[in-house]
Amino acid sequence: MDNRYPFTNTPLRYPYNALEPYIDEKTMILHHDRHLQAYIDKLNSLMSDCKQIQRLSLHEILKNSCRIPEEKRRDVLNNAGGVYNHRFYFNGMSPDCRGLERGILHRKMSESFTSFENFKNEFTAAAMSVFGSGYAWLVYDGKKLKFITTKNQDTPLCRGFIPILNIDVWEHAYYLKHYNDRKSYIDDFIKVVNWATAEKRLCNQKSF
Ligand code: MN
Repeated sequence: MDNRYPFTNTPLRYPYNALEPYIDEKTMILHHDRHLQAYIDKLNSLMSDCKQIQRLSLHEILKNSCRIPEEKRRDVLNNAGGVYNHRFYFNGMSPDCRGLERGILHRKMSESFTSFENFKNEFTAAAMSVFGSGYAWLVYDGKKLKFITTKNQDTPLCRGFIPILNIDVWEHAYYLKHYNDRKSYIDDFIKVVNWATAEKRLCNQKSF
């Protein structure tokens, strides 16, 4: 994982068209190669004269914002968040959707939401509730799984949760295929969730 300055855009772990027909190839190309690339380029540019944060990992930058020079703090956080959130999102999808039938995440899901139908309904409600641009997240608080939302490119890293899954609900994530129909995009996203990665995030308590 390319996790330090200067950041580069790591390739997707699957072909751009691999999530068809749920997430279309053109959206994936633009989203990964242009939107994410723009956050990486801007972050590198902002950090080019900030020696004090160049040796920090992406996580450390996001969790230790006091170390970022104040005049650049908001811009650095926006762009570092853009990199973190997008990588998390792309790695959280997969064409090999095996579902979730057993294991610790399955158990936690049952405890927290009773049924997969309830999970889907609550996930959809959380993602629909984001006003404007942002993300909905499935997070683990140490006892239960629950949903939170973040605005723009904010991350949940300073809130003490372990992030398990996120869905990007900026319009650029779905507008070409789903137009303004966020609900149908959410339905399609759920069909390509990489549950194996979600489970690893829960078990390893790591964010990638
Ligand atoms: Mn995006």
